[in-house]
Amino acid sequence: MRSSACFLQSNMETEGLGLSSLCFTEATCSQDEKCFVSCEEGKNENNLGGLSDLSDLAVERTEGRPTCSRCSRPQKVCLCPFLPVHPLDVSTCLYIVQHPAEESRVLRTVPLLAACLPPGNCKVLVGRRFSEVRDPELASVCKSPGTLILYPGSDAENLEELDLNSSAAPYNIIIIDGTWSQAKDMFLRNPLFHLPKQVQLKTSLSSQYVIRTQPTNTCLSTLECAAIALSIMEKNDSIQEVILRPLKALCSFQLQHGAQVHHSKEHLLKNGIYDKPMPKNKRKLKRMELLMNNKKM
Ligand SMILES: [Zn+2]
Repeated sequence: MRSSACFLQSNMETEGLGLSSLCFTEATCSQDEKCFVSCEEGKNENNLGGLSDLSDLAVERTEGRPTCSRCSRPQKVCLCPFLPVHPLDVSTCLYIVQHPAEESRVLRTVPLLAACLPPGNCKVLVGRRFSEVRDPELASVCKSPGTLILYPGSDAENLEELDLNSSAAPYNIIIIDGTWSQAKDMFLRNPLFHLPKQVQLKTSLSSQYVIRTQPTNTCLSTLECAAIALSIMEKNDSIQEVILRPLKALCSFQLQHGAQVHHSKEHLLKNGIYDKPMPKNKRKLKRMELLMNNKKM
């Protein structure tokens, strides 16, 4: 999936000050950043977008800087004041299946998500392949009638329109955390992920992650997708607001320290202010044309 979410450009990871100290994390934090659901292809089918090239981001290892154990941010820029005092009271359980490359990403939003929820309601499993033998808990979750997998596509039902049968509650939601191509690979190659009902978000919410360029205006980070999905499952809009609060605070910090608002590629193209050379690859060029014309890719 093209993830969306976050992230500053690597050139902001300058030494020590401001930006870098805000968000680029420490080695100890390299467990879960980046998140994202949905993708370019998926997006077109379902309005979920995703992230583009987080793989370009350099990993900053700033060993020795003390980090907050709750939010995983450097202590000086701890985001805990923006987290709920008590974990949210939810019955739905999230399973974030995370591509191993995500572990070394610089900015992580999954710890923020996890910090908003009771420990048992947000589980992060790292790996590319999952099997019944090695991952019996995940296998049994995948087989449960109360489990949904958030992955866009023509076979996915809109979560907003799903008849949530209370007899199947409490529900589990599996979210794949990786770039679009990683997520696609993980989804296609793990038969376990084909067992749960496939769902997607129909939301038109624009990403709050304004500090990095998103491919489209509706690309959402894993944290955002999780926030929306939980609000729908729990029938409680305030959940979304609470989970997005630390993300907004993070973006606001970044902007105050010199980061610039990054419009999506879609916005830049449509307004004629895309300043990068157009791709030579015909397929990529075609995609950009489609993006400009708002057509399905
Ligand atoms: Zn903290």
